[in-house]
Amino acid sequence: MTDRSAYERLLERFALSPSDVEPLLQVEHRQTIADLWTELGPRLNDSDRPKVERWVESRSADCNTLLEMFENRITRRIGELGLTLPCKCATGIFPIYSFNAQARREGDDALLLLDMGCISILEALTLVWAWNSDTLANNEVACRIVTRYVTGYEMPQAAEYDHPTLHGVRLLAFAELLSKAQEYVVAHEFAHVLLGHLADAAHSVFPTGYGELTLATKSREQEFAADELALRLILPSSDTDSLALRQACVAPYIVFGVAALIEATFDALRPSERPNNDSHPPAVLRLTAARSALAAIGLLAVSDLGEKFLVFIQDCMILMTMKLREA
Ligand SMILES: [Zn+2]
Repeated sequence: MTDRSAYERLLERFALSPSDVEPLLQVEHRQTIADLWTELGPRLNDSDRPKVERWVESRSADCNTLLEMFENRITRRIGELGLTLPCKCATGIFPIYSFNAQARREGDDALLLLDMGCISILEALTLVWAWNSDTLANNEVACRIVTRYVTGYEMPQAAEYDHPTLHGVRLLAFAELLSKAQEYVVAHEFAHVLLGHLADAAHSVFPTGYGELTLATKSREQEFAADELALRLILPSSDTDSLALRQACVAPYIVFGVAALIEATFDALRPSERPNNDSHPPAVLRLTAARSALAAIGLLAVSDLGEKFLVFIQDCMILMTMKLREA
């Protein structure tokens, strides 16, 4: 059981209840982990798939449950790597208007805050990518979702990225892939805590959806170091689980690919309004570093799905540029 008291204290200070961040809690999540895939996947036929889907639906979790699952997995992995967290960590959702997550000290604890964009844009774009489509229809939808997020901070609706080809085993496989990407974002914040970046950090004021909040500022070097440790925190402890390994390797591609598209859209549409108080380096540089890190541990060869995701993102960028020229 994770201790969320630091997060609850933050909400109280802003006179908020969890239901005030309701849009986030409604993010649909069909997490049923690799066990189901491993056990049932190869044996599923068309008549079984609806049953599995219903079972998955019944296990759908809200966003806090999802974060708790990530915390538990990451904490277990921290122990396996022989590392020790210097303080208690609580994760939570808060409209920090940053695609990346941010962290702050909260008394003796660390508070790791994820923006709604982190969770829902990663989900929407991964599932839109998963459409079985040989047209640019999914790229069109992805561009629309990102444009609305950048210009109006609008969150995508599940109906927008649902698709007839997303069902059964296919849906499960991609749901696991996208939750691994979300877990990577949380792992990055845990990595900052483990590396002592939060204890030393200066805090500066960020505008948020509910007023100003001080958040830790980090150097670029610290950001790259956190990315690298985060990758180790989401890798399965045994490399005999080849499916889990492949899924984990795709996570940085999805996170930085989506971030690169958001950054490019910001630069094209609202360059002066792009938040400049974010210490995270440009996504393209983080992606390059992640590829090097994967190569260094011999995992570039199992990152093929991630490379495919980047082709999807590149097509989105081309489409976005064409649309802006037409406009
Ligand atoms: Zn960071």
